[in-house]
Amino acid sequence: MTLPTSTLGVVEIFATLQGEGTHTGRAAVFIRLAGCNLRCHFCDTDFALRSLLSSEQILARVQALDPSGQAIIVLTGGEPLAQTTSLRLIDALRAEGRSVHIESNGTIPVDLPDDVWLTVSPKLRLHPRMAARANEIKCIVDKRVPFEWRDQVSQRPIWLQPEKNAPENIELAMVAILREPGEFRLSLQTHKLIGIA
Ligand code: SF4
Repeated sequence: MTLPTSTLGVVEIFATLQGEGTHTGRAAVFIRLAGCNLRCHFCDTDFALRSLLSSEQILARVQALDPSGQAIIVLTGGEPLAQTTSLRLIDALRAEGRSVHIESNGTIPVDLPDDVWLTVSPKLRLHPRMAARANEIKCIVDKRVPFEWRDQVSQRPIWLQPEKNAPENIELAMVAILREPGEFRLSLQTHKLIGIA
């Protein structure tokens, strides 16, 4: 996808609660950016381009959704770091005092400011720089626990997140967590449990 250099391809921007991982339950504004550099066969995320917005337009949407300035701002995708202009957006959000979180597949090496929270959810491959930079690692359990990533990351515990909160995936995660409590912790998609986006 080739975009004008000053704009970002956006899927949606919405206010909700962070449903997963360390920051579960916090007020959040999600900015879902369009496009991804991977093509995972199991992907069910809609990251199709809906609109082209400048950083200023996105900041205005964020301000309207969270006038308090206290919500975390979660850049997700697709792969939010696949668009080079996302780094400008991150700087603009930080300049307004916003707390920026990124949900990435960890394949695109970029330098991120120390105060940006990085969640890496490994998929087909993982860049060592992003593996080392991640504040948390979230592995999707979908019919199997992807133990192969544990040797590539040092963060502990690793979040195990059962795909679609499916009982068989929850059970697989539970078995792994009970067997190695220091290694793994459960991350349920709590937003789905309570029926929000
Ligand atoms: S990295 Fe995530 S969004 Fe991208 S194709 Fe894979 S599952 Fe889909």
